[in-house]
Amino acid sequence: MPRPINATIDLAALRHNLTVARRHARGRRVWAVVKANAYGHGIERAVRAFGDADGLALLDLAEAQRARDAGWRKPILLLEGFFEPADLDVVDRLDLTSVIHDAEQIAMLRACRPQRPLAIHLKINTGMNRLGFADLPAVQEALAQLQALPHARVTALMTHFANADRDDAVAVDAQLQRFKRLIQGWQGEMCLANSAALFMHSHVGGASVRPGIVLYGASPAPDKAAAAFGVRAAMTLSARVIATQQVAPGGGVGYGVQFAAATPLRVGVVACGYADGYPRSAPNGTPAFVENIRVPTVGRVSMDMLCVDLTHAPQAGIGAEVELWGSHIPIDEVATVAGTVGYELMCALAARVPVREIG
Ligand SMILES: *Cc1c(COP(=O)(O)O)cnc(C)c1O
Repeated sequence: MPRPINATIDLAALRHNLTVARRHARGRRVWAVVKANAYGHGIERAVRAFGDADGLALLDLAEAQRARDAGWRKPILLLEGFFEPADLDVVDRLDLTSVIHDAEQIAMLRACRPQRPLAIHLKINTGMNRLGFADLPAVQEALAQLQALPHARVTALMTHFANADRDDAVAVDAQLQRFKRLIQGWQGEMCLANSAALFMHSHVGGASVRPGIVLYGASPAPDKAAAAFGVRAAMTLSARVIATQQVAPGGGVGYGVQFAAATPLRVGVVACGYADGYPRSAPNGTPAFVENIRVPTVGRVSMDMLCVDLTHAPQAGIGAEVELWGSHIPIDEVATVAGTVGYELMCALAARVPVREIG
């Protein structure tokens, strides 16, 4: 028997979340962001669940290939563009839309001869200071060079917000103003909003939007639960109890004896550890769900196991199913106490965890 641990991906939740995002998009086209193996949910599943999206956005050519192999015929946006000239053959063959964020990429493009004009999103750096052209002369020169290439077609100008997860309007306005200043004279499309901008800053315009995290049912904002955005968890991580221990007062649990029982304690040992993607940094008291109640973790998370306090779940013996995150325990709740974000936990789901599908 394989280890009793599972991730369940709920395709109905993915479809529901896309519908919610589309409602917020109010007519703008929706690129469903599926980078990092669809935030750990699987590119092929995303292709099936996000059939109503206008395009997929990702940044790995192998993932673009997988999406095409899975039958995705609509546009695919490469969020970081291509990295070397050889990539352009793949971009051409798979008919990808590419971000261009640097003059080096324009030089590579100039030297290639694709079969069809390459669709381009020109990336503008408005304050994130990662990718993109950052001042007016650079933007204008990039645009002029691309527009002079017969095999390039700039289909949109885009930027990415650094602070959209804050509720106040000023969170995006400085970047929005800068964007408008840098693209002056541009009559074509703009591609602007991630999940946080889409759901929390309705005045951000553009022709298309790029939600990611909300599609998977987690929150883009640190102080706001996913449920407040009307989305549902698509990933559940659960594992079974494989042993129980009765621990007397003063007894410890796990490596480093980071936890010592104050009262008699019934401990359940769960077949999930950090090698499955559960964060080792999750402290004592991180919630889990078993037999319809929330129970706290006790002791340090180890590679293949973690422990929960089953004192108040007397029915839960060997074989009891424990939800580590999912519809009862929001992934963001585990992430917050572990000092990270839901994004990181879902992306880090380990390859060794068997995945089931529902919906
Ligand atoms: C990841 C990413 C997104 C999606 O961000 P979420 O916060 O998951 O909605 C949008 N745009 C770009 C450029 C990205 O890299």
